[in-house]
Amino acid sequence: MKGVKEEAEDFFPAYDLVKNDDNSIDYQIVHSSRGCFRKCLFCGTWKIEPEFKGRKEIKPVIEPGLEMGLKNIVFYDNNLFYNPHIEDILNELADLKKDKKIGWCESQSGFDGRILLRKPHLAKLLKKAGFRYPRIAWDWGYKHWPAMKKQIQILKEAGYNKRNITVFMIYNWEIDFEEMERKRIKCWEWKVQISDCRNRPLDQLHDHYKPLKDQKNGEDYYIHPNWTDAEVKQFRKNVRRQNICNRQNLVFHSKLLEHKKEYTKGMYIKLKAMGPENAKEYLPDLWIPSQITHPEDRNKWEPKTVEPPQNLAELLAVDEETVTKKTEYVERSPAKKEEMLYV
Ligand code: SF4
Repeated sequence: MKGVKEEAEDFFPAYDLVKNDDNSIDYQIVHSSRGCFRKCLFCGTWKIEPEFKGRKEIKPVIEPGLEMGLKNIVFYDNNLFYNPHIEDILNELADLKKDKKIGWCESQSGFDGRILLRKPHLAKLLKKAGFRYPRIAWDWGYKHWPAMKKQIQILKEAGYNKRNITVFMIYNWEIDFEEMERKRIKCWEWKVQISDCRNRPLDQLHDHYKPLKDQKNGEDYYIHPNWTDAEVKQFRKNVRRQNICNRQNLVFHSKLLEHKKEYTKGMYIKLKAMGPENAKEYLPDLWIPSQITHPEDRNKWEPKTVEPPQNLAELLAVDEETVTKKTEYVERSPAKKEEMLYV
């Protein structure tokens, strides 16, 4: 069976099967629309749901869930903004939110940024309706960064914190590694999160991707002709490290530091304050997100194990002047306590 089964659309899911003493969920998954009018080559939505259909109101869809205590709403629409009734739906949600009948909302898919540019008022409506962690997609080339910047600005002006905004990016696709790295670095400048989506053909039934294994022969998972296995893994790794830096307000990443074993809380605080130039002495695997980072060998993936340095005792003795010295890399706004690794 392919596509939307009309008869099934009006049935409410049997949440009682998953909401019980062993399992507590507080959200419901809904669709306010089906389909998408765009035809991105890597996407299956327009093949599976070729006809766009949008609901006029959302309350009847979520009411049975609200009665069960499922106050938070996760939208699975593929293009929520394309619904001609989107303003009505967001206003409906805003009223429910004001009356405390719903909690937060989220959209699983990204918001259509080109529609957002045409209708920037939607960002404020999203905020009023309780949508959190907005996501937008940047699937095209680096040259489109001004439009992305504008979309992020619209979301920020609506009240969203940049660190809670996520940019979806497809990779292992036509845009090559180097250009994807330039896109990644732009997101670093904007201090937004990246959700990297590894392209895989819709008709490929197997995917045995293993992040630590060399899989260059392409038999385990799909590798686009513009990419190599090592580049796929390196890009994933770079995005992951960058997201951690961004969330924790760090200007560098180190796996040794991330794993906490060798470094005490006191060391962490000193390293964070001293900036990458000095911290590198104590973190041999220190990495800075603002630089394009290729794999060591484009044709072979070899994860390296880095041993902790022998000079950690010296770190605790580093004088206050070095620690408080401001370098051009050190950010002024301190991370919130709960965001820090060691707190
Ligand atoms: S805009 Fe999104 S849902 Fe629509 S075709 Fe493109 S990727 Fe698919």
